[in-house]
Amino acid sequence: MYWRFFTLVLCQASAAGFAWLLAPKGQALQWTLGMALLGGYLWVVLDSVRGVRLLRWLRDGAVADLALGNGLWGEASDRVRRMLRASSRLTVESESRLKDFLAALQASPNGVVLLDAEARIEWFNQTAADHFGFDVRRDLLQHFGNLVRDPSFAAYLNQRDFLHGINMPGRDSSNAKPVTLSVNLHAYGEGRLLLLSRDITAVEQAEAMRRDFVANVSHEIRTPLTVLAGFVETLQTLPLDDQERQRYLGLMSQQATRMQTLVVDLLTLSRLEGSPLPSTHEWVSVDVLMQQCEQDARDLSHLLLSESHDLVFERVQGCEIAGSALELHSAMSNLIGNAIRYTPAQRRIEVGFNALADGGALFFVKDQGPGIAQEHIPRLTERFYRVDRSRSRETGGTGLGLAIVKHVAQRHGAELTIESQPGKGSTFSLTFPPQRVRSALQVPSLH
Ligand code: ADP
Repeated sequence: MYWRFFTLVLCQASAAGFAWLLAPKGQALQWTLGMALLGGYLWVVLDSVRGVRLLRWLRDGAVADLALGNGLWGEASDRVRRMLRASSRLTVESESRLKDFLAALQASPNGVVLLDAEARIEWFNQTAADHFGFDVRRDLLQHFGNLVRDPSFAAYLNQRDFLHGINMPGRDSSNAKPVTLSVNLHAYGEGRLLLLSRDITAVEQAEAMRRDFVANVSHEIRTPLTVLAGFVETLQTLPLDDQERQRYLGLMSQQATRMQTLVVDLLTLSRLEGSPLPSTHEWVSVDVLMQQCEQDARDLSHLLLSESHDLVFERVQGCEIAGSALELHSAMSNLIGNAIRYTPAQRRIEVGFNALADGGALFFVKDQGPGIAQEHIPRLTERFYRVDRSRSRETGGTGLGLAIVKHVAQRHGAELTIESQPGKGSTFSLTFPPQRVRSALQVPSLH
């Protein structure tokens, strides 16, 4: 302000000074006053030009190269420049923060959709695009209800009570392959909505499996229990002779054994699911495993049938598998046990362990049993799935054997393959990867 006043006075004083020097005699006072006024006008004109320059620069937005020197306009231009710089820095920062936010939402495993007050889509992430089949170029600013036409969602959106979410079928859901989405709306801002979607198909399937499993276990236990209770009642109420009593007690013992086997298999399964993966450094001798399996097989075969089977065991010597001896024995004896239980007497059952060219190994059990129709094969490893229910029960099956085998195989990086044709027998094999197999003959000596 002082500078402004100083320049005005300077302008007028210099004009007046000139006039004083150049004025004819007797007119010095008039000239001086006149020129001082003119100096004042000149200052106003120059000052206005600087103001107009500032305005033009502001209008055109090119304030960076604005140089108005000292004074009011100079200071105003400096301040404007500083303010604009600060605000553009803020804008850049806000933009980068917004980008970070959107990147975080983009990375979310849940689908995220931002809706305006009219439920039009303002933004969505890739997961939401996959869940609902949205296209970023086509669907932005479209009404969400026009694109997702599920009636339960429409009702949810309209009632505007977003305390609980809903479950609805996903875009690619079909009867053969159901997909379920859990969708939640949350109100924010002025009437805006945040929609979160989550694919819960796997959770639902796991829950359905758990329900089926509990129902199956209850059913499997209830049957022998009912039989047992019946026999107990008979023994309590009827006067039986010694022979009959012994027969009933034998049948009761069979049912008790059946329940015991079921509980043992259930515990094995739960141990397999809950325990850490078997070690890759503990080596189990295949010779020992096969010897145990052969002994078990011969005992079982004699126990089930008076005429027994033609059992053939062949194997390479000195092989070892990395893993758990208990689990491997359980898987192998389950496969051999099935072959014995389902193959009629005197028919051949071959069990073998061979080294493979890639360094892996193959354990197989080949029987001449009834074989299995193709449609059953993919389901055989499901818990309690049986092709021949009565044969399975008669021979003490629990319906869990192949589920256990599959688990053990997975835990050892092995693959279970089932080849079978009705009437032509079956071959069950476990293929072990090279890193789990070694020949004891090649084991480097410590000395
Ligand atoms: P189970 O205790 O009933 O034998 P598994 O899980 O071991 O249960 O086998 C599932 C079903 O697969 C069996 O009920 C049976 O129908 C069929 N199966 C298994 N092994 C054989 C086999 N070697 N020959 C014919 N069918 C078999």
